[in-house]
Amino acid sequence: MARVYNFSAGPAVLPEEVLEKAADEMLDYAGCGMSVMEMSHRSSAFKDIIESAEADLRDLMDIPDSYKVLFLQGGDSLIFASLFMNLATNGKADYVLTGNWSKKAYAEAQILGDPKVLASSADKNFTYIPDCSDLPVRDDASFVYICENNTIYGTTYPELPDTKGHPLVADQSSMFLSKPVDVTRYGLIHAGAQKNVGPAGVQIVIVREDLVPDDLPGVPTMLRFKTQADAGSLYNTPNCWGIYVCGLVFKWIRERGGLVALEEANAEKAGVLYDFLDASALFSSPVNPRDRSLMNVPFVTGDSALDAAFVSQAAAQGLVNLKGHRSVGGMRASLYNAMPREGVEALVSFMKDFEARHA
Ligand code: PMP
Repeated sequence: MARVYNFSAGPAVLPEEVLEKAADEMLDYAGCGMSVMEMSHRSSAFKDIIESAEADLRDLMDIPDSYKVLFLQGGDSLIFASLFMNLATNGKADYVLTGNWSKKAYAEAQILGDPKVLASSADKNFTYIPDCSDLPVRDDASFVYICENNTIYGTTYPELPDTKGHPLVADQSSMFLSKPVDVTRYGLIHAGAQKNVGPAGVQIVIVREDLVPDDLPGVPTMLRFKTQADAGSLYNTPNCWGIYVCGLVFKWIRERGGLVALEEANAEKAGVLYDFLDASALFSSPVNPRDRSLMNVPFVTGDSALDAAFVSQAAAQGLVNLKGHRSVGGMRASLYNAMPREGVEALVSFMKDFEARHA
Protein backbone atom coordinates (compact mmCIF):
# COMPACT_ATOMS: atom_id res chain seq x y z
CA MET A 1 0.00 0.00 0.00
CA ALA A 2 1.40 3.38 -1.00
CA ARG A 3 -0.22 6.33 0.77
CA VAL A 4 0.64 9.72 -0.70
CA TYR A 5 1.03 13.00 1.16
CA ASN A 6 -2.29 14.60 0.26
CA PHE A 7 -2.27 18.42 0.46
CA SER A 8 -5.87 18.77 -0.76
CA ALA A 9 -7.93 21.70 0.59
CA GLY A 10 -10.92 19.42 1.06
CA PRO A 11 -12.10 16.73 1.07
CA ALA A 12 -8.75 16.19 2.69
CA VAL A 13 -6.38 13.86 4.46
CA LEU A 14 -7.81 12.00 7.47
CA PRO A 15 -5.81 10.37 10.27
CA GLU A 16 -4.64 6.90 9.24
CA GLU A 17 -5.64 5.53 12.67
CA VAL A 18 -9.20 6.71 12.00
CA LEU A 19 -9.32 5.14 8.55
CA GLU A 20 -7.98 1.89 9.98
CA LYS A 21 -10.55 1.86 12.78
CA ALA A 22 -13.36 2.56 10.28
CA ALA A 23 -12.02 -0.27 8.09
CA ASP A 24 -11.87 -2.65 11.07
CA GLU A 25 -15.46 -1.87 11.95
CA MET A 26 -16.72 -1.84 8.37
CA LEU A 27 -18.38 -5.24 8.30
CA ASP A 28 -19.33 -5.51 11.96
CA TYR A 29 -19.69 -2.38 14.08
CA ALA A 30 -19.31 -3.21 17.80
CA GLY A 31 -20.86 -6.68 17.50
CA CYS A 32 -23.96 -5.42 15.62
CA GLY A 33 -23.13 -7.66 12.64
CA MET A 34 -23.50 -4.72 10.26
CA SER A 35 -21.71 -1.58 9.14
CA VAL A 36 -22.68 1.87 10.44
CA MET A 37 -23.76 2.55 6.83
CA GLU A 38 -26.37 -0.18 7.12
CA MET A 39 -27.94 0.60 10.48
CA SER A 40 -31.05 2.58 11.34
CA HIS A 41 -30.46 6.10 12.53
CA ARG A 42 -33.03 5.26 15.23
CA SER A 43 -31.04 2.25 16.52
CA SER A 44 -29.47 2.36 19.96
CA ALA A 45 -26.05 1.78 18.37
CA PHE A 46 -26.36 4.92 16.25
CA LYS A 47 -27.84 6.89 19.14
CA ASP A 48 -24.65 6.09 21.07
CA ILE A 49 -22.52 7.15 18.08
CA ILE A 50 -24.14 10.57 17.64
CA GLU A 51 -24.41 11.26 21.37
CA SER A 52 -20.77 10.42 22.03
CA ALA A 53 -19.69 12.47 18.98
CA GLU A 54 -21.51 15.47 20.44
CA ALA A 55 -20.17 14.83 23.95
CA ASP A 56 -16.58 14.54 22.68
CA LEU A 57 -16.93 17.71 20.61
CA ARG A 58 -18.37 19.59 23.60
CA ASP A 59 -15.48 18.38 25.70
CA LEU A 60 -12.81 19.26 23.11
CA MET A 61 -14.15 22.78 22.51
CA ASP A 62 -15.47 23.34 26.03
CA ILE A 63 -18.90 24.21 24.59
CA PRO A 64 -21.26 25.62 27.26
CA ASP A 65 -24.69 24.02 27.79
CA SER A 66 -26.27 27.23 26.53
CA TYR A 67 -25.07 26.31 23.00
CA LYS A 68 -26.69 23.73 20.73
CA VAL A 69 -24.55 21.42 18.59
CA LEU A 70 -26.16 20.39 15.31
CA PHE A 71 -25.01 17.86 12.70
CA LEU A 72 -26.59 19.05 9.45
CA GLN A 73 -26.40 18.47 5.69
CA GLY A 74 -26.56 20.53 2.50
CA GLY A 75 -23.03 21.93 2.54
CA ASP A 76 -21.84 25.11 4.15
CA SER A 77 -23.23 26.69 1.01
CA LEU A 78 -26.72 25.95 2.40
CA ILE A 79 -25.75 27.06 5.92
CA PHE A 80 -24.89 30.48 4.42
CA ALA A 81 -28.63 30.84 3.73
CA SER A 82 -30.08 29.00 6.72
CA LEU A 83 -28.04 30.90 9.30
CA PHE A 84 -29.30 34.17 7.84
CA MET A 85 -32.92 32.92 7.90
CA ASN A 86 -32.56 31.83 11.53
CA LEU A 87 -30.51 34.63 13.02
CA ALA A 88 -31.36 37.69 10.91
CA THR A 89 -35.09 37.73 11.55
CA ASN A 90 -35.11 41.50 10.88
CA GLY A 91 -33.34 40.89 7.53
CA LYS A 92 -30.20 42.76 8.64
CA ALA A 93 -26.72 41.37 9.19
CA ASP A 94 -23.25 42.78 8.53
CA TYR A 95 -20.42 41.00 6.68
CA VAL A 96 -16.63 41.23 6.45
CA LEU A 97 -15.47 40.04 3.03
CA THR A 98 -12.13 38.22 2.99
CA GLY A 99 -12.51 35.84 0.05
CA ASN A 100 -14.81 33.67 -2.03
CA TRP A 101 -16.61 32.00 0.87
CA SER A 102 -17.57 35.14 2.75
CA LYS A 103 -18.62 36.63 -0.61
CA LYS A 104 -20.87 33.63 -1.19
CA ALA A 105 -22.33 33.89 2.32
CA TYR A 106 -23.01 37.59 1.64
CA ALA A 107 -24.59 36.77 -1.73
CA GLU A 108 -27.06 34.41 -0.03
CA ALA A 109 -27.89 37.14 2.48
CA GLN A 110 -28.53 39.53 -0.42
CA ILE A 111 -31.14 37.11 -1.78
CA LEU A 112 -32.83 36.91 1.60
CA GLY A 113 -32.57 40.38 3.11
CA ASP A 114 -30.54 43.54 3.51
CA PRO A 115 -26.94 42.71 4.43
CA LYS A 116 -24.17 45.30 4.64
CA VAL A 117 -20.44 44.97 3.87
CA LEU A 118 -18.41 46.28 6.81
CA ALA A 119 -14.93 45.78 5.38
CA SER A 120 -13.24 43.93 2.54
CA SER A 121 -9.76 42.92 1.44
CA ALA A 122 -10.75 42.62 -2.24
CA ASP A 123 -8.46 45.57 -3.09
CA LYS A 124 -5.39 43.33 -2.68
CA ASN A 125 -6.89 40.07 -3.94
CA PHE A 126 -7.76 39.00 -0.38
CA THR A 127 -4.12 38.60 0.69
CA TYR A 128 -4.80 40.16 4.10
CA ILE A 129 -7.43 40.53 6.81
CA PRO A 130 -8.85 44.07 7.07
CA ASP A 131 -8.65 46.06 10.29
CA CYS A 132 -11.71 45.02 12.29
CA SER A 133 -11.10 47.10 15.41
CA ASP A 134 -13.70 49.80 14.61
CA LEU A 135 -16.21 48.40 12.13
CA PRO A 136 -19.29 50.48 11.15
CA VAL A 137 -21.69 47.83 12.51
CA ARG A 138 -25.33 48.86 12.17
CA ASP A 139 -27.19 49.19 15.47
CA ASP A 140 -29.87 46.82 14.24
CA ALA A 141 -27.51 44.23 12.68
CA SER A 142 -28.49 40.76 13.89
CA PHE A 143 -24.89 39.56 13.69
CA VAL A 144 -21.45 40.23 12.24
CA TYR A 145 -20.27 37.52 9.85
CA ILE A 146 -16.70 36.43 9.13
CA CYS A 147 -15.01 33.54 7.37
CA GLU A 148 -12.36 32.98 10.01
CA ASN A 149 -9.93 30.97 7.87
CA ASN A 150 -9.89 31.57 4.14
CA THR A 151 -9.21 28.24 2.47
CA ILE A 152 -8.41 29.69 -0.95
CA TYR A 153 -6.36 32.74 0.01
CA GLY A 154 -4.59 31.27 3.05
CA THR A 155 -5.48 34.01 5.52
CA THR A 156 -6.82 33.82 9.04
CA TYR A 157 -7.96 36.42 11.58
CA PRO A 158 -5.07 37.29 13.93
CA GLU A 159 -7.73 38.48 16.36
CA LEU A 160 -11.52 38.43 16.30
CA PRO A 161 -13.36 41.59 15.17
CA ASP A 162 -14.87 44.03 17.63
CA THR A 163 -18.54 43.39 16.84
CA LYS A 164 -19.69 46.20 19.15
CA GLY A 165 -21.82 43.85 21.19
CA HIS A 166 -23.45 42.07 18.25
CA PRO A 167 -23.19 38.27 17.97
CA LEU A 168 -20.25 37.03 15.92
CA VAL A 169 -21.00 34.36 13.32
CA ALA A 170 -17.96 32.53 11.93
CA ASP A 171 -17.33 30.05 9.17
CA GLN A 172 -14.56 27.91 10.68
CA SER A 173 -14.68 25.20 8.00
CA SER A 174 -10.98 25.12 7.19
CA MET A 175 -9.72 25.71 10.74
CA PHE A 176 -12.26 23.73 12.75
CA LEU A 177 -10.60 21.95 15.70
CA SER A 178 -7.14 23.09 14.62
CA LYS A 179 -6.69 25.15 17.80
CA PRO A 180 -8.63 26.11 20.93
CA VAL A 181 -11.28 28.79 20.44
CA ASP A 182 -13.39 30.53 23.08
CA VAL A 183 -16.88 29.47 21.99
CA THR A 184 -18.49 32.09 24.25
CA ARG A 185 -17.13 34.82 21.95
CA TYR A 186 -19.36 33.55 19.12
CA GLY A 187 -23.09 33.51 18.50
CA LEU A 188 -22.68 30.78 15.91
CA ILE A 189 -19.81 28.72 14.49
CA HIS A 190 -20.30 26.61 11.39
CA ALA A 191 -17.94 24.19 9.71
CA GLY A 192 -18.00 21.56 7.01
CA ALA A 193 -16.45 18.29 8.14
CA GLN A 194 -14.50 17.61 4.97
CA LYS A 195 -11.34 19.50 5.92
CA ASN A 196 -10.31 18.76 9.47
CA VAL A 197 -12.83 16.34 10.91
CA GLY A 198 -14.35 13.83 8.52
CA PRO A 199 -15.84 13.02 5.15
CA ALA A 200 -17.91 15.48 3.10
CA GLY A 201 -21.61 15.76 3.82
CA VAL A 202 -21.69 16.84 7.48
CA GLN A 203 -22.03 20.46 8.59
CA ILE A 204 -21.48 21.18 12.24
CA VAL A 205 -23.31 24.20 13.65
CA ILE A 206 -22.66 25.40 17.19
CA VAL A 207 -25.20 28.05 18.07
CA ARG A 208 -26.14 30.03 21.17
CA GLU A 209 -29.55 28.72 22.08
CA ASP A 210 -31.12 32.12 22.74
CA LEU A 211 -30.36 33.18 19.15
CA VAL A 212 -32.48 30.36 17.69
CA PRO A 213 -36.09 31.52 17.31
CA ASP A 214 -38.95 29.21 18.28
CA ASP A 215 -41.09 30.33 15.44
CA LEU A 216 -39.95 31.19 11.93
CA PRO A 217 -42.96 31.83 9.70
CA GLY A 218 -42.34 31.03 6.04
CA VAL A 219 -39.12 29.09 6.66
CA PRO A 220 -39.20 25.40 5.65
CA THR A 221 -38.95 22.90 8.51
CA MET A 222 -35.53 21.59 7.53
CA LEU A 223 -34.01 25.07 7.41
CA ARG A 224 -35.08 25.99 10.95
CA PHE A 225 -32.26 25.27 13.40
CA LYS A 226 -34.91 24.70 16.07
CA THR A 227 -36.09 21.58 14.21
CA GLN A 228 -32.78 19.76 14.56
CA ALA A 229 -31.95 21.34 17.92
CA ASP A 230 -35.12 19.83 19.40
CA ALA A 231 -34.53 16.48 17.71
CA GLY A 232 -30.85 15.98 18.59
CA SER A 233 -30.04 16.28 14.84
CA LEU A 234 -32.32 13.27 14.21
CA TYR A 235 -35.43 14.97 12.83
CA ASN A 236 -34.72 13.15 9.57
CA THR A 237 -32.06 10.67 8.44
CA PRO A 238 -28.70 12.33 9.04
CA ASN A 239 -25.38 11.51 7.38
CA CYS A 240 -24.88 8.55 9.74
CA TRP A 241 -21.57 7.41 8.28
CA GLY A 242 -20.14 10.92 8.21
CA ILE A 243 -21.10 11.59 11.83
CA TYR A 244 -19.55 8.27 12.85
CA VAL A 245 -16.22 9.18 11.20
CA CYS A 246 -16.31 12.67 12.76
CA GLY A 247 -16.77 10.93 16.12
CA LEU A 248 -13.69 8.79 15.47
CA VAL A 249 -11.71 11.94 14.61
CA PHE A 250 -12.87 13.66 17.83
CA LYS A 251 -11.59 10.66 19.80
CA TRP A 252 -8.31 10.75 17.83
CA ILE A 253 -7.88 14.43 18.79
CA ARG A 254 -8.59 13.68 22.44
CA GLU A 255 -5.98 10.91 22.41
CA ARG A 256 -3.47 13.40 21.05
CA GLY A 257 -3.95 15.76 23.96
CA GLY A 258 -6.78 17.93 22.59
CA LEU A 259 -6.71 21.28 20.85
CA VAL A 260 -3.80 22.86 22.75
CA ALA A 261 -1.52 20.03 21.64
CA LEU A 262 -2.87 20.17 18.08
CA GLU A 263 -2.32 23.92 17.82
CA GLU A 264 1.28 23.48 18.86
CA ALA A 265 1.82 20.71 16.32
CA ASN A 266 0.05 22.72 13.60
CA ALA A 267 2.14 25.84 14.30
CA GLU A 268 5.34 23.80 14.10
CA LYS A 269 4.28 22.12 10.86
CA ALA A 270 3.28 25.36 9.15
CA GLY A 271 6.46 26.99 10.49
CA VAL A 272 8.58 24.48 8.56
CA LEU A 273 6.96 25.62 5.30
CA TYR A 274 6.75 29.36 6.08
CA ASP A 275 10.40 29.48 7.22
CA PHE A 276 11.45 27.91 3.96
CA LEU A 277 9.24 30.27 1.90
CA ASP A 278 10.63 33.33 3.67
CA ALA A 279 14.20 32.28 2.88
CA SER A 280 13.60 30.98 -0.64
CA ALA A 281 14.95 32.71 -3.75
CA LEU A 282 12.32 31.03 -5.94
CA PHE A 283 9.12 30.52 -3.94
CA SER A 284 7.19 33.14 -2.00
CA SER A 285 4.00 33.51 0.00
CA PRO A 286 1.56 36.17 -1.27
CA VAL A 287 -0.08 36.52 2.17
CA ASN A 288 0.46 39.34 4.68
CA PRO A 289 2.67 37.61 7.32
CA ARG A 290 0.47 38.65 10.27
CA ASP A 291 -2.59 37.03 8.71
CA ARG A 292 -1.10 33.73 7.57
CA SER A 293 -3.20 30.61 8.00
CA LEU A 294 -1.71 27.55 9.68
CA MET A 295 -4.03 25.38 7.61
CA ASN A 296 -3.82 26.58 4.00
CA VAL A 297 -0.55 27.88 2.62
CA PRO A 298 -0.57 29.35 -0.91
CA PHE A 299 2.81 29.95 -2.59
CA VAL A 300 4.04 30.97 -6.02
CA THR A 301 7.18 31.08 -8.14
CA GLY A 302 5.90 34.02 -10.19
CA ASP A 303 6.07 31.96 -13.40
CA SER A 304 2.94 29.95 -14.21
CA ALA A 305 4.79 27.43 -16.41
CA LEU A 306 7.22 26.76 -13.56
CA ASP A 307 4.30 26.44 -11.12
CA ALA A 308 2.70 23.81 -13.36
CA ALA A 309 6.01 21.91 -13.63
CA PHE A 310 6.33 22.00 -9.85
CA VAL A 311 2.83 20.61 -9.29
CA SER A 312 3.31 17.72 -11.70
CA GLN A 313 6.85 16.83 -10.55
CA ALA A 314 5.73 16.94 -6.91
CA ALA A 315 2.83 14.60 -7.70
CA ALA A 316 5.29 12.13 -9.23
CA GLN A 317 7.04 12.12 -5.83
CA GLY A 318 3.79 11.34 -3.95
CA LEU A 319 3.16 14.98 -2.93
CA VAL A 320 -0.31 15.45 -4.39
CA ASN A 321 -3.05 18.07 -4.75
CA LEU A 322 -0.69 21.05 -4.58
CA LYS A 323 -2.26 23.08 -7.40
CA GLY A 324 -3.51 26.44 -6.12
CA HIS A 325 -7.11 27.55 -6.49
CA ARG A 326 -7.81 29.09 -9.90
CA SER A 327 -8.44 32.53 -8.39
CA VAL A 328 -4.94 32.67 -6.84
CA GLY A 329 -2.88 30.45 -9.13
CA GLY A 330 0.43 28.92 -8.10
CA MET A 331 0.38 26.28 -5.42
CA ARG A 332 -1.41 25.68 -2.14
CA ALA A 333 -0.48 23.20 0.58
CA SER A 334 -3.26 22.43 3.03
CA LEU A 335 -1.77 21.28 6.32
CA TYR A 336 -4.78 20.05 8.26
CA ASN A 337 -4.54 18.22 11.59
CA ALA A 338 -4.02 14.84 9.93
CA MET A 339 -1.06 15.96 7.78
CA PRO A 340 2.01 14.58 9.55
CA ARG A 341 5.07 16.77 10.05
CA GLU A 342 6.98 14.32 7.82
CA GLY A 343 4.65 15.29 4.96
CA VAL A 344 5.60 18.97 5.29
CA GLU A 345 9.28 18.07 5.59
CA ALA A 346 9.03 15.94 2.44
CA LEU A 347 7.38 18.88 0.65
CA VAL A 348 10.06 21.35 1.74
CA SER A 349 12.83 18.96 0.80
CA PHE A 350 11.29 18.61 -2.68
CA MET A 351 10.94 22.41 -2.94
CA LYS A 352 14.64 22.82 -2.10
CA ASP A 353 15.54 20.34 -4.76
CA PHE A 354 13.27 22.05 -7.32
CA GLU A 355 14.72 25.44 -6.41
CA ALA A 356 18.27 24.17 -6.88
CA ARG A 357 17.30 23.04 -10.37
CA HIS A 358 15.40 26.21 -11.38
CA ALA A 359 16.59 29.25 -9.41
N1 PMP B 1 -16.57 27.77 3.65
C1 PMP B 1 -15.27 27.49 3.50
C2 PMP B 1 -14.26 28.23 4.34
C3 PMP B 1 -14.85 26.55 2.56
O1 PMP B 1 -13.55 26.29 2.40
C4 PMP B 1 -15.84 25.87 1.78
C5 PMP B 1 -15.51 24.79 0.79
N2 PMP B 1 -14.27 24.56 0.45
C6 PMP B 1 -17.18 26.20 1.96
C7 PMP B 1 -17.51 27.14 2.92
C8 PMP B 1 -18.27 25.58 1.14
O2 PMP B 1 -18.53 24.31 1.58
P1 PMP B 1 -19.50 23.31 0.81
O3 PMP B 1 -18.80 22.89 -0.43
O4 PMP B 1 -19.65 22.19 1.81
O5 PMP B 1 -20.78 24.01 0.55
